[in-house]
Amino acid sequence: MPPRKLHIKSYGCQMNVYDAQRMADTLAPEGYVETASAEGADLVILNTCHIREKASEKVYSELGRLRAAKEQAARDGRGMNIVVAGCVAQAEGEEIIRRAPVVDVVVGPQSYHHLPQLLARAKTCGRALETEFPVADKFGFLPQPSRQAIRARGISAFVTVQEGCDKFCTFCVVPYTRGAEASRPVAKVIDDVRRLADNGVREITLIGQNVNAYHGEGSDGRPWPFGKLLYRLAGIPGIVRLRYSTSHPRDVEDTLIDAHRDLDALMPFVHLPVQSGSDRILAAMNRRHTADDYRRVIDRFRDARPDIAFSSDFIVGFPGEAEEDFAATLALVGQIGYAAAYSFKYSPRPGTPAADMQETVSTADMDQRLVQLQNLIDSQQSAFNRTALGRTIDVLFDRPGRKPGQIVGRTPYLQPAHVEASDAIIGQVLPVTVASLERYSLFGTLASQPASGEPSNHAATGGAQFQTTAGV
Ligand code: SAM
Ligand code: SF4
Repeated sequence: MPPRKLHIKSYGCQMNVYDAQRMADTLAPEGYVETASAEGADLVILNTCHIREKASEKVYSELGRLRAAKEQAARDGRGMNIVVAGCVAQAEGEEIIRRAPVVDVVVGPQSYHHLPQLLARAKTCGRALETEFPVADKFGFLPQPSRQAIRARGISAFVTVQEGCDKFCTFCVVPYTRGAEASRPVAKVIDDVRRLADNGVREITLIGQNVNAYHGEGSDGRPWPFGKLLYRLAGIPGIVRLRYSTSHPRDVEDTLIDAHRDLDALMPFVHLPVQSGSDRILAAMNRRHTADDYRRVIDRFRDARPDIAFSSDFIVGFPGEAEEDFAATLALVGQIGYAAAYSFKYSPRPGTPAADMQETVSTADMDQRLVQLQNLIDSQQSAFNRTALGRTIDVLFDRPGRKPGQIVGRTPYLQPAHVEASDAIIGQVLPVTVASLERYSLFGTLASQPASGEPSNHAATGGAQFQTTAGV
């Protein structure tokens, strides 16, 4: 049987990028091979995001485009199945079925391991929907990626260690679409990381909606805090860099701070969303921390690891946000000094408590505040990048650049760094002396020669999987 073509389009967070890979791994034994475009695909999966209204509306416009492709496929005498997965599927399952007859399967994030059965059910019953939150751990049912798939995906990989959220911030849909907080056992995480490392992965990003709330069962039968997991993973041969996203300021335990002090592999760059600098708004958001609590957490990280840098998420125009609340946010940003940050206009999400709050902020005020905040963040990011000029910084090389002879990697702070070198350096961490800067990218020369006799074992096309959009 010729291979069947699978196209997956992911929206939103890193969790979705990871889930897309797991869906591809689940469908590989059925003969599906990934393809870059929806045209000509036998199966198209839209892996959706529900976090803001704009994100979920994109799905319906994409389905409109796919309808034409599906009709063309039928005229060509071949079929095309369309699956809606992810958080819009979870939140609006029945609505999708009603609004978009072109969809064959709707599947929530906890049920990806049932995809082959759901496709079979759609064939016999017309359509299939599964948006349960099964008690069983879906990870236990998802197949491991093949060696070939790991190598094709490059030297950086995501590993989910925690899913769901019990925090119930009043603006957020995650507790409703991803369910209650659950952590994977330590042994399973170690198995995944070992397997990735054995197949050439050098950098692991541990992901979870609330990753530092991790409390998976350890080898001693007790729940391990996140920091302890990091110590364990840092000892796995082949892993040279560890990252994690997204963390919550309330769950920063001492073991995590200690890990930043002790582990060279743990990168000194932390995404720690604060959302607002106003205590009044933080309380209305149910963040359960104040701006001062956040400042103190940042100080603990900095005391342990002076070269650490931070990124954050901000929401402007949350209901009731007055000028002085927004001024408090600008003041906090000014005090912390971020290397990067994401800021969003508040988007009311049906079913969340904030959606019923009356004191809405006008669109004009939101727009104006967003521009002001983004300008401040941009200037901080540029200033941070300029500090790299003339310095020698470790870079993990992960892919060929656009120009012949150019290789690109990432600094500890995720800045792309370009050098002229052989692609044998892909997979190595090498010091780079930074000579120039173009917007967010650094350019320089290798400050020491690569280790000889260590050829790259990756497909030259394999690239890092980092996203520069909002984190998990
Ligand atoms: N768990 C993370 C935390 O507590 O910070 C955040 C996860 S959320 C998937 C990513 C970001 O989307 C949030 O930090 C927030 O800034 C933004 N976000 C979530 N809901 C939103 C909403 N209703 N309107 C605007 N932005 C929102
Ligand atoms: Fe949970 Fe983060 Fe959403 Fe708050 S913003 S409910 S902590 S996922």
